[in-house]
Amino acid sequence: NAPLHELDPDVAAAVDAELLRQQSTLEMIASENFAPVAVMEAQGSVLTNKYAEGYPGRRYYGGCEHVDVIEKIAIDRIKELFGAEAANVQPHSGAQANAAAMFALLKPGDTIMGLDLAHGGHLTHGMKINFSGKLYNVVAYHVDAESGQVDMAEVERLAKESRPKLIVAGWSAYPRQLDFAAFRRIADEVGAYLMVDMAHFAGLVAAGLHPSPVPHAHVVTTTTHKTLGGPRGGVILSTADLAKKINSAVFPGQQGGPLEHVVAAKAVAFKVAASEEFKERQHRTVEGARILAERLIQPDVTDHGVSVLSGGTDVHLVLVDLRMSELDGQQAEDRLHEVGITVNRNAVPNDPRPPMVTSGLRIGTPALATRGFEAEDFAEVADIIAEALKPSYEAEALKARVTALAEKHPLYTGLK
Ligand code: PLP
Repeated sequence: NAPLHELDPDVAAAVDAELLRQQSTLEMIASENFAPVAVMEAQGSVLTNKYAEGYPGRRYYGGCEHVDVIEKIAIDRIKELFGAEAANVQPHSGAQANAAAMFALLKPGDTIMGLDLAHGGHLTHGMKINFSGKLYNVVAYHVDAESGQVDMAEVERLAKESRPKLIVAGWSAYPRQLDFAAFRRIADEVGAYLMVDMAHFAGLVAAGLHPSPVPHAHVVTTTTHKTLGGPRGGVILSTADLAKKINSAVFPGQQGGPLEHVVAAKAVAFKVAASEEFKERQHRTVEGARILAERLIQPDVTDHGVSVLSGGTDVHLVLVDLRMSELDGQQAEDRLHEVGITVNRNAVPNDPRPPMVTSGLRIGTPALATRGFEAEDFAEVADIIAEALKPSYEAEALKARVTALAEKHPLYTGLK
């Protein structure tokens, strides 16, 4: 039982280096966050040893009395947090939550509708070589070229033409709110299930800063590690009448033993998400994204061909549009990396550049808000990004400004 540093110095050194990277750079990948130490403690606990196929009170293994308590707490907390009738907290990831929800409601060959990947949808919403694209007949909807917002007229037209069995509303790269009531009306008109994948904006919903999909959707899936700020994992919320189908689609349909150490970490994260501190953090998250968008649409930035899709944001991320810039997505991502800011390049709708290069950046604020960033800090980050995307930039000076911000908001100070 030697500690990691003694047993495996190679892995330990890489873990230490990753901690230092997280502490010393600015994390702006929109799908990332910093889990609280208590969440990581639960995840790193003895629960990793336990098999618990089944559900609380109905397990296929002995010795589940303590994990039953934990899983029940997680279920009760997330139902309360989102006002859901039923919850399954076992999906190992967001992709597996989506796979299980679709497995519960569809048969192979059924038609589904989802937002096109290149317009901000997720792989699991019908991408060709994902399970969703292979198992189901996919009809993709898009954002309007002018407004950059989901074209609900197209959604309605495609739904009436293709009569899908399920419509997915949700996104991985989209800066606006969706009209869940309109999606439900369309789903009802064609006899489809409405599944909302709120993986990205679940934290904002929990804080009351984004409309909740729960009253409108038959099924709501989410990850627990993005704005929600918990361990990596997935959850499925549903109406009570679908709970049995969903549960058997997760286990035994898609998964074996649940990761009870992750379920425990989810339970802790749901407790945090119900707190006032969490609400205040989500406020700073959304405000930070708004400040970022505002500063990136100033003339001295747009003069260099940099702008923001849809002209702003309602959520925790900004999509930078580089179609008019000499810099492509890859070059822009590399420049920000050089000055100590981590983002990911992202295709924009009708992107003229290839998918490995792209003409966009997706920049998110959740992780920095968790670090304690306030409005003035986000303004400084925005200015650093704007400078770095200009034709000529001073990497060393910008890096020093990044370091000053990182030092102002120390991260995981209790960890080595
Ligand atoms: N759904 C959406 C909307 C996502 O953005 C993501 C992840 O990026 C997922 C699902 C998948 O989550 P995971 O990476 O945990 O499988």
